[in-house]
Amino acid sequence: MTSMECPHDLDAEYLYPSDADVLAIDESDGSIRITLALPCPDCGAGLSVDARVEDVEEGDFELPLDEERYD
Ligand SMILES: [Zn+2]
Repeated sequence: MTSMECPHDLDAEYLYPSDADVLAIDESDGSIRITLALPCPDCGAGLSVDARVEDVEEGDFELPLDEERYD
């Protein structure tokens, strides 16, 4: 086992939008796939997280997002 391995399950309770970065957005099997970079809350390992877009609606905000929204 190397130090890069992370055995932890992600828990949304400990994940914050300000910790996430978008690595990639691409299309796969007809749906949009977003790859996020997240730190494991338990060990800090960098995780590549695949997310499928299931729903899109207009948001009540202006882009780019103000960093203060994360506070
Ligand atoms: Zn971990």
